[in-house]
Amino acid sequence: MRIMISADMEGATGVTWTADVLPGTEQWQRFRALFTGDVNACVGGLCAGGAESVLVNEAHSSQRNLLLEALDDRASMLTGRHKPLSMMQGVDSGVDGVVFLGYHAGAGEEGVLAHTYLENSITGVWLDGRPASEGRLNAALAAEHGVPVLLVTGDDRACEDARSWAPAAEVVAVKECVSRYAAICATPAITSARIAEAASRAMTGAGRVEPVVSAHRIEVEFDATHLAHAAAVVPTVELVDVRRVGFDAATMTDAVQAFKIVTAVAAGAVEGIYG
Ligand SMILES: [Zn+2]
Repeated sequence: MRIMISADMEGATGVTWTADVLPGTEQWQRFRALFTGDVNACVGGLCAGGAESVLVNEAHSSQRNLLLEALDDRASMLTGRHKPLSMMQGVDSGVDGVVFLGYHAGAGEEGVLAHTYLENSITGVWLDGRPASEGRLNAALAAEHGVPVLLVTGDDRACEDARSWAPAAEVVAVKECVSRYAAICATPAITSARIAEAASRAMTGAGRVEPVVSAHRIEVEFDATHLAHAAAVVPTVELVDVRRVGFDAATMTDAVQAFKIVTAVAAGAVEGIYG
């Protein structure tokens, strides 16, 4: 059994604000170790439950956050940016299950550092009419490759979100959301134990399933009209409301890749403090 971990940072142990996850800051340096600790606990648990190897795909920001020198030897790490499947690179490599570690609630929702792809500017994303966090989008992509979501970790809001798109997955809340920038946090010793136990249990759900390939529609709402206009320039993307665009795609892979382009174009149109 080979398992993949898609590792995001906002939902890691102790993380509650911008500097904690902003590459180059002192706080980020500190939280890299805690983030790596969450990943190691997960690798240990997965292997205790029967995994032979684990591929860790860095999914946060510059995608250069985890400490390779401190990583469990049973894992290998995909680090660095510019990957066609982004947060989910590797899901098409024959893995038997995926873990969403350090995930967070979606844009416009209650949750620590809640957002979907862009930290701000996007106020909501919908997949086939349902509010979509990064977790929901990535779970649909995993389903298209026949890969079950085994475990989701993050704050309590991320865990609640996961129940609607991965009902069979184990969840571990490493912190309890108080506001977008505040949480009641358990210590790394406690969260590591919980993650390891849940990861081991989750291995009972590992094993490839029948791929679910179907057409999908994504809609994205922005906090300013010109961002929607900028995104609507992308082929297949149409303006559906003053601040909202939508597009249809034949597969989830196409949908995720089109979404990446939409976010890149919109991010490029953001103008200073007026957004
Ligand atoms: Zn994220």
